Amino acid sequence: MKIDILAVGIHPDDVELSASGTLLRQANLGYSFGLLDLSLGELGSRGSAELRTLEAQAAADILGAAFREQLDLPDGFFAHSPENMLKIVRVIRQYQPHIVLCNAPDDRHPDHGRAAKLVVDACFYSGLIKIETRDTEGKVQAPWRPKSVFHYIQDKQLTPDFIVDITPYFDKKMQAILAFGSQFYDPNNPDDGPRTPISGKEFLDFMEAKARVFGRPAQVQFAEGFIGTRTPAVGNLFFGVKLGGGGDWGGGGGGGGAPLPSLIEKPKKSAPPPPPPPGDLGCLKIFAFHSGYSKYFRRIPLKNSRSSSQVARISDSKLPSSICLRSKLVPANRSK
Ligand SMILES: [Zn+2]
Repeated sequence: MKIDILAVGIHPDDVELSASGTLLRQANLGYSFGLLDLSLGELGSRGSAELRTLEAQAAADILGAAFREQLDLPDGFFAHSPENMLKIVRVIRQYQPHIVLCNAPDDRHPDHGRAAKLVVDACFYSGLIKIETRDTEGKVQAPWRPKSVFHYIQDKQLTPDFIVDITPYFDKKMQAILAFGSQFYDPNNPDDGPRTPISGKEFLDFMEAKARVFGRPAQVQFAEGFIGTRTPAVGNLFFGVKLGGGGDWGGGGGGGGAPLPSLIEKPKKSAPPPPPPPGDLGCLKIFAFHSGYSKYFRRIPLKNSRSSSQVARISDSKLPSSICLRSKLVPANRSK
């Protein structure tokens, strides 16, 4: 299965908290996406790995993800190691995404920045042909390098390179977040488990406030912020320009779609080259050089591009060694 976007998080719920509105918008534009959790989040103060896995699948269903995979790297103690990088490379090569989303480069939780570096590096090394990986059936995987890697901004208020308007998708994003009932505030069960920085109602209020702050510079209600790993390019100056009050974005989003950078537009197929003109392709005139002067020797009509082999066959014929052959290509319109 190939997908357009692979959204990666070290913990189940990272993607839901910080990039799920964007994924919903992209899905509405026709792009497919899958989710990859690097760990099971077993160090979370509330819930368990098993419970978080069930919650994660429920959240993936709400978002409409094509799949959700989990690598089971050790939460909190995973290393930036060749072994862990190759596990991510295998997933990238399996699904061949054009865009990868990953954790913030710097954040309150130390796992986030470390995971971000691991994923960014895996995206690069996945493109190297001499790094061999095999799929689950033992077949060698083809190299694949995503076109772009974007960090979604998480807890720490980093400055985004761009934001995505998620206003129509904010409610569904919050539904996906609340699927992680063990982690976040549940009004029906407010005292469930130890209190953490993300378990109170104020954290959900913060999520809303953060989305409003990201949206403010673009005059939209809710947004998510992203940081690129290189300078984003645009193919249209209307990119990011909100036209009128109807919610349509310029720059090719279409139908109320997102302000898509040209980098993440689907590649357009170029027209195939025109076929060669039918009929005579011209001819090859062969001249024999002997005793300082040349003599026209033979004319070979060209039926295809194998003219050099035709000359070679003549050269192999039994000619005196004092004679050498030269050829001259005559175009079709001058060969008659
Ligand atoms: Zn996290």
